[in-house]
Amino acid sequence: MKKHNFYAGPSILSQFTIDRCVDAIRDFAGTGLSILEISHRSKEFQAVMDEAEQLFKELLDIPEGYRVIFLGGGASTQFAMVPMNLLKSKAAYLDTGTWANKAIKEAKRFGEVLVVGSSKDDNYTFIPKGYEVPTDVDYFHITTNNTIFGTEIREDYDLPVRMVADMSSDIFSRPVDVSKYDLIYGGAQKNIAPAGVTFIIVKEEVLGQSERDLPTMFNYRTHVEKGSMFNTPPVFPIYAALQTLKWYKELGGVKELQRIDEEKARVLYDAIDDSRMFVGTVKPEDRSIMNVCFVMKPEYKELEKDFLDFASTRGIVGIKGHRSVGGFRASLYNALPLESVNVLVQAMNDFQAAH
Ligand SMILES: *Cc1c(COP(=O)(O)O)cnc(C)c1O
Repeated sequence: MKKHNFYAGPSILSQFTIDRCVDAIRDFAGTGLSILEISHRSKEFQAVMDEAEQLFKELLDIPEGYRVIFLGGGASTQFAMVPMNLLKSKAAYLDTGTWANKAIKEAKRFGEVLVVGSSKDDNYTFIPKGYEVPTDVDYFHITTNNTIFGTEIREDYDLPVRMVADMSSDIFSRPVDVSKYDLIYGGAQKNIAPAGVTFIIVKEEVLGQSERDLPTMFNYRTHVEKGSMFNTPPVFPIYAALQTLKWYKELGGVKELQRIDEEKARVLYDAIDDSRMFVGTVKPEDRSIMNVCFVMKPEYKELEKDFLDFASTRGIVGIKGHRSVGGFRASLYNALPLESVNVLVQAMNDFQAAH
């Protein structure tokens, strides 16, 4: 049976990416070696690294003066690496969910952290607004897409402070004005590649400003100077990332991805809003187009498990909600086709008609 993969991460990859990865596992770039066994210092892999940085810049229209690096350790390592490198005395953070919270916790080890807004008391069902960010902070950190709670900041704030953003789960879902940020990071396993690589877009100007005696591996400068080759980079995930970026380019770039993503999200949110059985969990104006969280209304609550079973008979995989929200979460990352969203909507409608 055809599967419809709604997992939140690691998550669906395009067939384009998977086919090219399979080919490269057998024979990478005509070398007669597998991508899994080739030296990262080979000229063939160096070309992959160069092209990945180049395409990242091209697709996101990254201005001069920024570098893109690819590291191991996941976005969670960046929660600490960002303050290690950028926090001198005080940083502002927006508390919009589990991941934002983890970032805050790590930053507190390195300086004063001002939580300028939080929706914690409402179980993160909205993006806080109307707060003030003091202009004397070293940076202001946001999480643009809250993968667990299904809220999203779909704009680039225009603030007189340096911005840092965790864009793990919505990178490449809209054009981003990178010039507004000093640093953008994310795990690649949501919208780009298999698990194992983290992307960092960093403004060169902010490198080496830290007065801390940073361990070599935790200093962005090390990796920028060595073009992500200071140590062995995650070779295979970077290869896969490049294939996804090529696919994005072939599709028409980020604006086109945004159009497709917004369409998919609209179809699902419309189905939820039209339903007597299902209800969304977050404020409509802050809804994520990447992770759609919904539950059953109180009078149908006991049917949630039955719906999961029913959905699986249609090939639907990965829609069980995160334990902190319950119900369902459908992740609609770039590689998920509209057809899969239609299958989910049909399953919701059929289940509702039967109950
Ligand atoms: C998944 C996720 C993370 C954690 O990423 P790891 O690579 O597992 O460390 C951090 N932030 C956001 C927004 C995420 O979605």
